[in-house]
Amino acid sequence: MDLRQKIVNSFRKRFGADPEFVVRAPGRVNLLGEHVDYNDGFVLPAAIDRATLLACRPSGSSLSSILALDLGAETSFDLNSLQNKRTNRDMPLPGWGLYPSGMQWSLAEEKLKTPGMDAVFASDVPPGAGLSSSASVEMAFGVAWEKLGGWTRNPMHMAKLGQRAENRYVGVNCGIMDQFASACGVKDHLLFLDCRSLDWQAVPLPRQVAIVIANTNVHRSLAGSAYNDRRAACEQAVHILREYLPAIHALRDVSPEDFNRHAHHLPELVEKRARHIIEDIQRTRLAVPILADNDIGRFGTLMNECHISLRDLYQVSCPELDAMVETAWTLPGCYGARLTGAGFGGCTVNLVAQDAVVTFSRELAQGYKRRTGLKPEVYICHAADGAGLMD
Ligand code: ADP
Ligand code: MG
Repeated sequence: MDLRQKIVNSFRKRFGADPEFVVRAPGRVNLLGEHVDYNDGFVLPAAIDRATLLACRPSGSSLSSILALDLGAETSFDLNSLQNKRTNRDMPLPGWGLYPSGMQWSLAEEKLKTPGMDAVFASDVPPGAGLSSSASVEMAFGVAWEKLGGWTRNPMHMAKLGQRAENRYVGVNCGIMDQFASACGVKDHLLFLDCRSLDWQAVPLPRQVAIVIANTNVHRSLAGSAYNDRRAACEQAVHILREYLPAIHALRDVSPEDFNRHAHHLPELVEKRARHIIEDIQRTRLAVPILADNDIGRFGTLMNECHISLRDLYQVSCPELDAMVETAWTLPGCYGARLTGAGFGGCTVNLVAQDAVVTFSRELAQGYKRRTGLKPEVYICHAADGAGLMD
């Protein structure tokens, strides 16, 4: 049974009627531009054809009753006491309940109408794997309240409201990329986003390629402290380089030529970190004309270079991610492979010829298992449209 049928059946069972509508909001994967978002750089994610689906109707009051089918858990919260982060029975909201209630909080902060809803949701975006299941939940609820409230906001605006929910209500310090990709996705396209201006454009991805995502199933344990540490190194690089390049505000403003001229002023480790950022921003910029030329081979090479840079300069890979990527590099039909997301575990992203994708996926899983003893998950994906109502 497909996911939509599952949530609709479950909605009928729980609420005794059909839902009024169903919303779909995708997860995302980033193809190029890693760790550059907090340096005002450019990223190149795609929404994927794995999504959170939400069946919904107005509750007729200020109360929302939400069933998370994947967890077999339900919670209820009231529009008038969102700030407390407590259920209508005065218990702390469960962790997963903070995403829907946080979205409602963020919309209400914006003075948007968000009537109570009865809802059931489920997802085939694996949680905690770096594919932004959390943003897909937020965007699904955002679109549902847009429909129930009878207002409209453009997808980028919705993404910002989702980011605010995650930053200020859930308490996760994420950038805009996750919600942006889930909200603004375009089928068969990558999304080129300027993280400073938030200008973006959709870049066609050749139809003959698939995006294969491979989950190492290694928990991203070091990710938190290493992330803060990398951010600090980038700030230190800007601070020192500003003495020589007074116009810069972020590493985004440093050209590779200027960097090479002044890099010797930086401590060795800081230089490595900054070099990754500056070169990866350059790679992501280059990718747009390369894709316009339909040169998927060169694009794949940029992905491979990105991995090597993340491994050797930014040092956020781990043996399992390297094993997955190195296995992919040996397989027929693979244009490019690299770790995606913050690193230290989670997923790799691979660009693979459509006609090789089944064999590739099988051999990648087998090769990874042989090298690490671990069983991976492999998802064959395509770039998909952003969040919206389903027909
Ligand atoms: P990700 O990289 O997948 O976004 P996060 O840690 O940011 O990882 O978000 C995962 C959290 O989002 C889960 O722990 C849960 O609270 C919530 N979530 C994601 N998917 C679901 C789902 N299908 N049902 C309920 N909660 C979900
Ligand atoms: Mg998340």
